[in-house]
Amino acid sequence: MKKVEKTTEEWKAQLNDLEYKVLREAGTERAFTGEYYEHEEEGIYNCKACGYELFSSTHKYHSGCGWPSFWGELESANIVQKGDYSHGMRRVELLCANCESHLGHIFEDGPKQFGGRRYCINSVCLEFVPKSV
Ligand SMILES: [Zn+2]
Repeated sequence: MKKVEKTTEEWKAQLNDLEYKVLREAGTERAFTGEYYEHEEEGIYNCKACGYELFSSTHKYHSGCGWPSFWGELESANIVQKGDYSHGMRRVELLCANCESHLGHIFEDGPKQFGGRRYCINSVCLEFVPKSV
């Protein structure tokens, strides 16, 4: 797969300040502020940085954590998991496989009937594409 590679200047020209900070510098949007936190429409969530398809609305659930939460990802997404030991915590960071942008973290407290995973994703890392009727 051909990966998207851009310079800092190119990313900054494409993304707004918050998007850049979260996607390219592994920042976090404030809890309960994200555009997609309570979003329920049917469709696909793409990577905001490169447009790669990541999640379906069928993977989304309400975790109450303050960020959009998914119990799974699209098979083709191949989201990259990477150990993250920043801020004195042991977490697993999620990165877009196509452009290596930061998306969020994965935790083990998701719905048990779907495998127990919780993809905790920043809204600013996503772009929603409604299902065409
Ligand atoms: Zn991407």
